[in-house]
Amino acid sequence: MVQTVEYDVVVVGSGPAGSTTARVAAERGLRVLLVDRRQELGSPIQCSGAVSDNALNEAGVRPNDEFVSTPIYGFVTYDTHGNATTMDYRLYRETPLGYVVDRRRFDRYLMTMAERAGVEVWLKTDAKGYTPHEDGTVDVHLNRFGFPQQVRTRVIVGADGLQSQVGKWGGLRTHIKLSELASCLQLVIDHVETDGLLEIVAGHEWAPGGYAWLFPKGHGYAEVGLGVIRTITDKDARWHLDHFMQNSFMAERLKNCRILEVQGGGVPLAAPLKKQVADNIILVGDAARHVNPITGGGIHTALRGGIIAGTFLGDFIPTGERPTAEALTCYHERWLDELGHAMWKLYEIKTDIFREQSIPRRDQRLYDTLASYFSPHSEFRKV
Ligand SMILES: Cc1cc2nc3c(=O)[nH]c(=O)nc-3n(C[C@H](O)[C@H](O)[C@H](O)COP(=O)(O)OP(=O)(O)OC[C@H]3O[C@@H](n4cnc5c(N)ncnc54)[C@H](O)[C@@H]3O)c2cc1C
Repeated sequence: MVQTVEYDVVVVGSGPAGSTTARVAAERGLRVLLVDRRQELGSPIQCSGAVSDNALNEAGVRPNDEFVSTPIYGFVTYDTHGNATTMDYRLYRETPLGYVVDRRRFDRYLMTMAERAGVEVWLKTDAKGYTPHEDGTVDVHLNRFGFPQQVRTRVIVGADGLQSQVGKWGGLRTHIKLSELASCLQLVIDHVETDGLLEIVAGHEWAPGGYAWLFPKGHGYAEVGLGVIRTITDKDARWHLDHFMQNSFMAERLKNCRILEVQGGGVPLAAPLKKQVADNIILVGDAARHVNPITGGGIHTALRGGIIAGTFLGDFIPTGERPTAEALTCYHERWLDELGHAMWKLYEIKTDIFREQSIPRRDQRLYDTLASYFSPHSEFRKV
């Protein structure tokens, strides 16, 4: 039985970008439906969960035991040989610099915040397409618990992650080059000492095109992982992670660890989409490539993008203006002003590093860039 309901906004995808967009739009008085195809948000986990305190603050999310796995106090950046730059912010501040969060709990927490702000949430609901109408509204075709259903709305927010279909529906160029897609693998392990710092290893030998990491996870657990660009290595992420764990300067430290969980996924180390809006559609988060192209971090930018998108919709919808691509371009412009220009600059820095043909020189530049990125004086600290 096909049913039509009316919402100002339908948000597809309840990751950090979607639930934040939905919450902020609802707080501004809009009728919002948030749908996600998963029956358990954030699962299977495809993320290390490192997020800064600043990012949570900006998004109005109070860090708490519900989703925090462990607090983070700084960084250690290593070069290929294990020479380290340590930025321990315990020297500068008493409170944590950030957290490693449990993405299952974190995504559920953000969705609950949205629900409490008045958003209607439908899980196990797959968005399949849409039909535009003469009056400027659209019907969104959903499959809810296996049954077709459609809802009428004015704007669809594509917060549907790296493989965004919403962007494709709107004819946006969401294709990502393989040379800019990091293939990531991480293991949750135990029996390894960590000290409240995110440890990051640069170097083609260990992670061609990306970097390796060792993050504390709390309760004696840690995450060890890496991301590689498959166009510059004939080995997969699994091979590189074994090689890193067995042969790098971390081998001794990792030799007794037990593997408790295997997680993986893709991270776009790409430029933000040049066009992030179409008629009746805006994109946010990974769907729009709102990912830091140097660190691969996308939680902060998803939360921040969600605030920008939700605030824009709160201003736009009450005007009654037809949501054409041209009218929605204001969202993209706001995003560029608040975040996007800095992300474009990071993309240019990253591209320039990987243009370097000499591997030792490239390794050195990546190491220097990552080490300075995490310094208290970095101009990019808020990206
Ligand atoms: C291995 C790995 C480690 C990472 N570690 C970090 C880290 O430590 N820190 C950090 O900041 N970032 C990290 N990232 C990146 C981060 O996970 C993403 O950038 C972030 O999750 C993007 O949020 P999002 O809301 O845009 O998309 P997602 O979190 O991907 O959410 C998209 C949602 O859309 C839903 N969806 C998709 N299609 C549909 C559809 N048709 N209908 C309904 N629902 C749909 C999905 O089910 C999903 O819930 C990591 C990524 C990987 C792969």
